[in-house]
Amino acid sequence: MSGISGPVKTLAARWIFPVEDEPIENGCIDLSGDTIVGIGPRANRAVDLDFGNAAILPGLVNAHCHLELEPLDDRPRWQPADPPEFEVDWLRKVVKQRWLTDPESYADTAARNARDLVRAGTTLVADITTAGASGPALVETPIRSVIFAEVIGLKRLRAMATNEAAWAWINAVEPALKRAEASEKAYRQRIGLSPHAPYSTAGWIYHQAATSGLPLTTHLAEMPEEAQLLATGMGPLRDFLEEIGAWPEDDEFRPIGPNPIDYVRHKDLRKSDWLIAHGNYFEESDLWKLAPASLKPGQRIAVAWCPRTAYRFGHRSHPYRQLLERGAIVCLGTDSLASSPTLSILDEMRFVRRVDPNLPGSVILAMATLFGAWALRADDFCGSLKAGKRGDLCVIALPDQDHQGTPHELILDSDLPVVATWLDGQEVACFGVPGG
Ligand SMILES: [Zn+2]
Repeated sequence: MSGISGPVKTLAARWIFPVEDEPIENGCIDLSGDTIVGIGPRANRAVDLDFGNAAILPGLVNAHCHLELEPLDDRPRWQPADPPEFEVDWLRKVVKQRWLTDPESYADTAARNARDLVRAGTTLVADITTAGASGPALVETPIRSVIFAEVIGLKRLRAMATNEAAWAWINAVEPALKRAEASEKAYRQRIGLSPHAPYSTAGWIYHQAATSGLPLTTHLAEMPEEAQLLATGMGPLRDFLEEIGAWPEDDEFRPIGPNPIDYVRHKDLRKSDWLIAHGNYFEESDLWKLAPASLKPGQRIAVAWCPRTAYRFGHRSHPYRQLLERGAIVCLGTDSLASSPTLSILDEMRFVRRVDPNLPGSVILAMATLFGAWALRADDFCGSLKAGKRGDLCVIALPDQDHQGTPHELILDSDLPVVATWLDGQEVACFGVPGG
């Protein structure tokens, strides 16, 4: 049952981060049922649950993830590659991993990774399913998700087969999700489509996806070889695609355009929402095309930056600052365990803080919460803490009281863990309250 009902439950902590407002020291949040009904200083109020020396944030939003992927075997524990790993070689390993994986094991992997998301304080995830396993895993997991069915293939038959499989899956699961959603303002699971990437997926798949009315995501401008392939039809990506038998036999590669940005701007592609994964290599002159003034009224385009994954491959500095300065929305994703050490957005936030200490902490926090919720059309009911939104929370332990620093620094310059995750005003994971 949704809405304001039942007795009010009050939570307190040393710091509360509403995101759309200044952090509140010694703050408290009032919850009634699944909804926040008040937020402010604690003063002398009695509370039901005091997290003590901790911070309450909105639940974190992971805007790009593949729960079905596992770590690659050559890295027992992630470390930045030195020299950086060539991403096309990494793609070879991922494809090999897929060929060797028993399809049954995807379900176990996805379920294990979904539990990790909850432990990491995630309450909303954009996940891409290739094997159909992350959908069931996320339905069983007490967090919100948009599950994007992947469509891939440059060869017509392969593209048709993956398209058919994606739609069969969507048609099988969507009615039940629609029924569940009908009576709610907030969604728990939503279905989307993911044309994989310009270098792997035929243009007609993108155009067809754009007419579906579903949420859409795609990998775009991820590596320099992608633009090379689009512009010339040649390069290391083509060699790789020929090697694995994915290059069209008739050699008829017809990209939508010579620039990755064309894949969200050409004709009817301009009408849809797009959640763009990566965007490492957008041309400077194309960035304005993602700014609000370039979008149709009500349209949402956002870039999900995966900082540790980009770092692993030695990609050039991501244009997040230029995008943010133009008013474009940049949110954070982890990508998969095949390229990232954890599925923790808090770890990504702390990584961003280390590589760009001058970026305001409030911006990093917004990228990890409200901006991802906006991209997934969930900002009406989550992504920040304010009256009327759902009680989706991430509680993080803080350093000792005598530790100096701004409130954002207390979270970002520490390595202390998430201690609790709440969804809809209910605790869904708890790992002990330090000092509590
Ligand atoms: Zn990805």
